[in-house]
Amino acid sequence: MQYISTRGGMPPQSFSDILLGGLAPDGGLVVPTELPKLDKATLEQWRGLSYQELAFEVISRFATDIPASDLRAIINKTYTKEAFGSDEITPLKQLDPTLYILGLSNGPTLAFKDVAMQLLGNLFEYVLEKRGQTLNIVGATSGDTGSAAEYAMRGKHAVKVFMLSPYGKMSPFQRAQMYSLQDENIFNIAVTDMFDAAQDIVKAVNNDAEFKARYKIGAVNSINWGRIVAQIVYYFKSYFHVAKNIGDPVSYVVPSGNFGNVCAGHMARQMGLPIKRLFVATNENDVLNEFFKTGIYRPRPETLATSSPSMDISKASNLERFVFDVVGRDPRKLAELWTQVEKGEGFDLSHSEFFGRMQAEYGFGSGRSSHADRIAHIRKIHQDYGVVIDPHTADGMKVALENRDIAVPTLVLETALPAKFEETMVEALGQKPARPAGLENLEQLPQKIEVMAADTEQIKAFIARHVS
Ligand SMILES: *Cc1c(COP(=O)(O)O)cnc(C)c1O
Repeated sequence: MQYISTRGGMPPQSFSDILLGGLAPDGGLVVPTELPKLDKATLEQWRGLSYQELAFEVISRFATDIPASDLRAIINKTYTKEAFGSDEITPLKQLDPTLYILGLSNGPTLAFKDVAMQLLGNLFEYVLEKRGQTLNIVGATSGDTGSAAEYAMRGKHAVKVFMLSPYGKMSPFQRAQMYSLQDENIFNIAVTDMFDAAQDIVKAVNNDAEFKARYKIGAVNSINWGRIVAQIVYYFKSYFHVAKNIGDPVSYVVPSGNFGNVCAGHMARQMGLPIKRLFVATNENDVLNEFFKTGIYRPRPETLATSSPSMDISKASNLERFVFDVVGRDPRKLAELWTQVEKGEGFDLSHSEFFGRMQAEYGFGSGRSSHADRIAHIRKIHQDYGVVIDPHTADGMKVALENRDIAVPTLVLETALPAKFEETMVEALGQKPARPAGLENLEQLPQKIEVMAADTEQIKAFIARHVS
């Protein structure tokens, strides 16, 4: 399997080559030259596999340059009951005859990002060791991504993580989760400014080519192809669980921000998994809902702060991978559209043949949710089924109940546990959500942070000091 850029400007590369990189050199996203196609007989065979066996079958078709026995060992070491709370890894909860919640948030940081990031940590370590290289990850986080990355990379010899976060702006739980890590290779830098300032510093570090090369700076952002591949697995696993026969329709509703999670669903469908519909659920930052409803993609100049904060984005970076398929994998057409995005204009497919295909050929639909909807759905699901869902999953539930075909099994992806978002949960249910065992006293643990001004040079100096 070889990888190319959506914009056509990258010679084909192997999985291990693209794994450690970010954007393709031409600014595009990395995609496989073609997706593996699975026939019905293969799907029948995969039905009975455990999560780990299935993960191997799926991922080995993408990571073709990693020897099978090595890949199997990496997967078995990643997807354990110890890390994810059960042998099922991503358990299903049935609410009514055709409504389910797919539990993706039982990893160490209580959000679905662990499913991919835990694998990435082990893949990075493997590839770096093979190549005798080291990597220094520099990132900015407003919450979930940073902690998922730190828990994935902690204790890894060839990797150091420098994570910038806005000082005092995250929830006490999120802060404690990150700052209580004492591993020597993890550096929490709390910047006395907003998230955007932290992100600008990361950009500035990456734009300094000499610094970047000298200190081997890398990233683990949401456009990493390895993360998408790892997320494809649970679409297969849950389909097999719910469908009586291979070929039966099953639909998914995905709380979305950067379009990474639902992009994996799209890939699973393109590989031949009989998914009927893929619904994108957004919060008040509804750039994706607008795109799927109208064909107009109009990234916003500003992002609203909402009570489902992990979906607060105004530009969905992984959307480029889907649109690449929609325009018939034509890199010139794609590059033309994204030139308009980069100019801040966005693009309009409403009058083109492409718009109709998004639903008819690819099964996409969408919806949005507001704070009031979110609170109402946390209450409703608690009242009707005795199940407590987090604010992001509630956004998905709202879109599911509004759109589902009651005859088709519909799976709402649970992207975080309620324990991460106490304030909104208290508003909805009048009490604090339960915490997984072992995290009761998280906020009391000693914390290790560097508080620094939003000063790029000072932060670069800090990185340089701790790398060499
Ligand atoms: C990251 C995140 C999302 C959005 O996922 P994308 O892959 O960016 O679309 C939704 N919910 C939670 C809790 C998240 O952490």
